[in-house]
Amino acid sequence: MFENHLPTAELQALDAAHHMHPFTDGDGLAKKGARIITKAKGVWVTDSEGAEILDGMAGLWCVNVGYGREELVEAAARQMRQLPFYNTFFQTSHIPAIQLAKRLAELAPGDLNHVFFNGSGSDSNDTNIRMVRRYWQALEKPEKNVIISRWNGYHGSTMGAASLGGMKGMHAQGGLPIPGVVHIDQPDWWSEGGDLTPEAFGLARARQLEEKILEIGAENVAAFIGEPVQGAGGVIVPPATYWPEIQRICRQYDILLIADEVITGFGRTGNWFGCQTFGITPDIMTVAKGLTSGYIPMGASIVSDRVAAVINGSDEFAHGYTYSGHPVAAAVALENLRLLDEDGIVARVAAETAPYLKAKWEGLAAHPLVGEAKIVGMMGSIALTPNKETRAKFASKSGTVGYICRERCFANNLVMRHVGDRMIISPPLVITPAEIDILIARALKSLDETLVRINAEGLN
Ligand code: PMP
Repeated sequence: MFENHLPTAELQALDAAHHMHPFTDGDGLAKKGARIITKAKGVWVTDSEGAEILDGMAGLWCVNVGYGREELVEAAARQMRQLPFYNTFFQTSHIPAIQLAKRLAELAPGDLNHVFFNGSGSDSNDTNIRMVRRYWQALEKPEKNVIISRWNGYHGSTMGAASLGGMKGMHAQGGLPIPGVVHIDQPDWWSEGGDLTPEAFGLARARQLEEKILEIGAENVAAFIGEPVQGAGGVIVPPATYWPEIQRICRQYDILLIADEVITGFGRTGNWFGCQTFGITPDIMTVAKGLTSGYIPMGASIVSDRVAAVINGSDEFAHGYTYSGHPVAAAVALENLRLLDEDGIVARVAAETAPYLKAKWEGLAAHPLVGEAKIVGMMGSIALTPNKETRAKFASKSGTVGYICRERCFANNLVMRHVGDRMIISPPLVITPAEIDILIARALKSLDETLVRINAEGLN
């Protein structure tokens, strides 16, 4: 246990001197000082000044069972005593990896019965790139290797995963995307839907996939990858018409469908997996985050019978990580899945918490700053706008108002993230109705304060 024996300012100075943060303007943070989190329980995190903050983001969308579950601590300790590490490379296996693969095959829909273990969401998507290319190569169609994904999608931060992602800012910092990855537009009706109805827009955006396949030639396209609900892109819930049409197109042109369920997996959308919520059957599913509720790093690619038969039936698949199937991570994942199931956490989301949160969240649309309020299961977003009718953007640079709102939330002890001028939430699945009331009250207060500030500064 790290006791907080140093004053906050000293910890901040050390952090600034030695710790390089992900996705952070280092010097900017050094001037301001990081907020230092010392402990957590349930949906509450505590900082070094003793403030208790409602974590509306479940860490980074991952702490599905909430903080402080002793069962997971015990599972890790037991496994560390028994077998802290062994690899799964050279014709060896171990019990936690075997049991977890079996459990994931049971939980995953359709014929997703095979599991390749990875260390995170990013390297799981790198595995997927290599696996789908290997799949078509083994079928003697090596030219079928292009992967289509979406602008403003997020699939991770490695060279491969960031290429799949459609974050232009990431591509700009280092020669991405890698060859053989192309992007189509996202199904974000609020920002890009123009005069179309959401349904017509969903179809139009899905049909961009067909257009892109025809442009490249189906004989050159290996796979399409998408998040059932874009998370880091701003919790963009696609129109209902979108995913069935994507599935139809993938089947028609014999393109593998990869559902990146790193956020949407393990109860987040009210079902075990987002593809169940949206009625699609992928060939590969990427999972991470909620697999272990973030207590320990782990990711996986869950693979269909069809794909696994080809990969297993060919020569060695020359791919893997030291920590593929790490026994301690697998033991924690198994226990986490048991809690999600036997503690009724996923069932309670569907029956109780998600409907309660939905009613409250959609109520935020009555606030003068809020245009659409979208939510599926336990992930939601609100679009901030100066004009709800025209869905206008603020005159200030995108993200200026969102950042102010995020800072007001933080000041009001609520973690809510901003993506441009959208505010997003993804709380631990164990949040109670009473805690949802607190979340909504703090969000409203923060929105009010944001409105005062942008009026005063003429930012609208
Ligand atoms: N895919 C999706 C959909 C994600 O949201 C993320 C992380 N936010 C990743 C992949 C990458 O996961 P990681 O950060 O564990 O590498």
